[in-house]
Amino acid sequence: MEQAPEGEQRPAEIAPRKGGAAGPGANPARSPSEAPGRLSGGRIRLLSEFVANQIAAGEVVERPASIVKELLENSLDARARSIRIDIEQAGIHSIRVRDDGAGILPGDLRLAVARHATSKIASAEDLAGVATLGFRGEALASAASVARLTITSRHAQADSAWRLDVEGSRERAFRPAAHPPGTTVEVRDLFYNTPARRKFLKTERTELLHIQEAVRSVALVHPHTGFELAAGSRSLTGLPGGSTMQERVRALLGDDFVGESIAIDEASAPASGGMRLWGWVGLPTHSDARARRQHFYVNGRPIRDRLAGHAVRQAYRDVLFHGRHPAFALFFELAPGLVDVNVHPTKDEVRFRRSRDVHDFIFGKLARVLRDVRPDGAGPVSTPAPEASSQSPPSSQRPLPLANTASAPGNLAKLFDAADVREVADQHAAYALPEEPADGASVPPLGYAVAQLHGVYVLAQNAAGLVIVDMHAAHERITYERMKAQFLGGAIERQRLLVPVALDVPSAEADFVEARAEEFEALGLIVERTGPASLAVREVPALLGKADIRALAQDLIADMVDFGASEAIAERRERLLAGAACHASVRANRRLTIDEMNALLRTMETTENAGQCNHGRPTFVVQSMASLDRLFLRGQ
Ligand code: ADP
Ligand code: MG
Repeated sequence: MEQAPEGEQRPAEIAPRKGGAAGPGANPARSPSEAPGRLSGGRIRLLSEFVANQIAAGEVVERPASIVKELLENSLDARARSIRIDIEQAGIHSIRVRDDGAGILPGDLRLAVARHATSKIASAEDLAGVATLGFRGEALASAASVARLTITSRHAQADSAWRLDVEGSRERAFRPAAHPPGTTVEVRDLFYNTPARRKFLKTERTELLHIQEAVRSVALVHPHTGFELAAGSRSLTGLPGGSTMQERVRALLGDDFVGESIAIDEASAPASGGMRLWGWVGLPTHSDARARRQHFYVNGRPIRDRLAGHAVRQAYRDVLFHGRHPAFALFFELAPGLVDVNVHPTKDEVRFRRSRDVHDFIFGKLARVLRDVRPDGAGPVSTPAPEASSQSPPSSQRPLPLANTASAPGNLAKLFDAADVREVADQHAAYALPEEPADGASVPPLGYAVAQLHGVYVLAQNAAGLVIVDMHAAHERITYERMKAQFLGGAIERQRLLVPVALDVPSAEADFVEARAEEFEALGLIVERTGPASLAVREVPALLGKADIRALAQDLIADMVDFGASEAIAERRERLLAGAACHASVRANRRLTIDEMNALLRTMETTENAGQCNHGRPTFVVQSMASLDRLFLRGQ
């Protein structure tokens, strides 16, 4: 242990704390021993630089990945074009970051590792418009206090390099060295002097994953810079410099992500702060079970922000369900004066001046983009990757050639109820299949049905080629949207069951249902308690038609119990409605007539979010004639 006992020989501090001018926190009295008598003070002492640094390090350096992130930020602030990161033992043994950036002048090298020493801001006013990633002047000092630090740097204008070795905030050596223009920072034996903190590290595998994530997250917004990450002799990440944004996104999030996402670029009116949101949002059909591909940046910084996260989740809420997480790379930009980046030592949080506006802007733009993923003739699934360029408008802005026929919402639920099929079909008589549609332009987006496949898929022909519809998924989405419209419109239309369905449940559940009868009623379900451990379902949403009422009610009750009282009803509503819609929807193996199929297609065209079912799976795909031709090697 090299930690000097407090009060005795303090480690030779390598540079004065720039405390004198540092503002209100600076306390000029440094020597407790000067205090006159016991009662006049002496209990409050200024901590030594070393201890102060360790405390700061506690916030900045949580784990090896935090150091990697800070070092990368320094290299990028120095305008590096190529950065190499070498890791030994998940960064615990050593982290070395080498860049070809501007370098540090020999005369500044010692100051670089002092706390609150930075070349990036000079005054409090500068804080309002920070243009660099770093500005707190804490990273190197923090690293130096919890590890052995070596910086070797050659400034672009200097003709030789210098090397500084620091250990536990104490300078060990300062001497000339050999190094090309640029800087190498090496951090060894992390937490060697704070064994307690070292114990908090997770397995090497986990720490390495965090490091990889830190590199990816920084690299995503800096496509011009090349990044190489190696653990020992194993190369983990190689990203060439000079890339475009789209190439970098593709390299980090995958080809499939770019193909299954929508490029967006939306701006607010200049009057409302000149906000801009651009990037790529994954189609709901391309979601993940864990939130692992979500990248959100504010003015070029990777940020974790509850507010923005909420806006994004809410925008996806209607198209994504059951614990699925969207993938996205979103870049949010606004005037630096409208966002405070000096909120947390790790700089991964911000505070927005007008948070409500920010939330509404992000939510509004995304919700519209996602809602527009509708049957548009091309179909979201077969749509080629949107080109990320300002020349071509984002696909969300493509006009949607929707059929301008009003569907018959009231009858929709009955779509698959044999007795009512005729009625519905009649209303769509205009779509009865013409043998040969007169001209391509008049064909509705999802075309005309031609057949049903194995009781599961509807096949239709549209202007582009072949449309394949998953009947169950499509019907589920339609039922859900209708129920939701009714729910928001005040009341869900109910239908009285001829024979109430009796349910045996644990008495706690019976209590629960009894206490929340009103909430069940809002969802269109009248459930009564008929005994200590029994319930009877008397009325159900009319839209649910011939659903399995018993299973539906059991699931709904279980969901309500799970969600607990604390969750807002709005939050659980979607899930409950989605669950109900799923139960109510046509199962596979229903034979449909051509008229019924066309009625389904027309209804999909006029239903919001018809491109996905409630589980985020697609409801239909389009195979263009060109792609069919390719299958048969036609015209090649
Ligand atoms: P901050 O980045 O907040 O200024 P740091 O402690 O991370 O604080 O770095 C202190 C200073 O050291 C920086 O302001 C910068 O001048 C210099 N520096 C650190 N790393 C590099 C680097 N890789 N290239 C050039 N200068 C660097
Ligand atoms: Mg820094």
